[in-house]
Amino acid sequence: MAFLKVVKDDITTITVDAVVNAANNSLLGGGGVDGAIHRAAGPELLAACRPLGGCETGNAVLTAAFRLPCRYVIHTVGPIWSGGSNNEAGALASCYHHCLQLADRHAVVSIAFPAISCGVYGFPIYPAAKIAVESVMDYCSQTHCSIKSVLFVCFGDEVKMAYEGALKQV
Ligand code: ADP
Repeated sequence: MAFLKVVKDDITTITVDAVVNAANNSLLGGGGVDGAIHRAAGPELLAACRPLGGCETGNAVLTAAFRLPCRYVIHTVGPIWSGGSNNEAGALASCYHHCLQLADRHAVVSIAFPAISCGVYGFPIYPAAKIAVESVMDYCSQTHCSIKSVLFVCFGDEVKMAYEGALKQV
């Protein structure tokens, strides 16, 4: 089973094998954590994303990390919150699942997640944190999973509290 940890930090400064980017469907960069990751990784990241032709909501793709202090960036596209009855929870769980599956296939040992969908996309942080923790526990309890360390990187105190609460519940 992997070790799960909550930290308050800027994800672009974290040294792990893979960082997850909360991207949009175009994969061509945006605001929030996406903008920060592209700025820190350098223009090579956009050049690596462009030929991928986008990514569907709930899915994930992997690129090199260029100037970031890690090996890979895993770009996933979270759901836009529209009240909760539009399979937002299922789509968010699918993001975590696909990121972990890709990481596992690339023999990633340590991975850092931002709070996918919890910024501009408006997913409420408490249910989102519960989905994040449960999805990771679910995936990493598989016997052959390469991932040994999962960091939930929070940009603010409320986000951190939500993750700490979700971790205590499981
Ligand atoms: P989304 O469009 O999926 O909602 P956002 O980037 O708007 O993505 O926000 C996702 C989460 O990432 C929010 O909690 C936001 O505060 C956080 N965030 C923004 N910049 C960073 C960063 N540099 N490191 C870690 N988290 C960040």
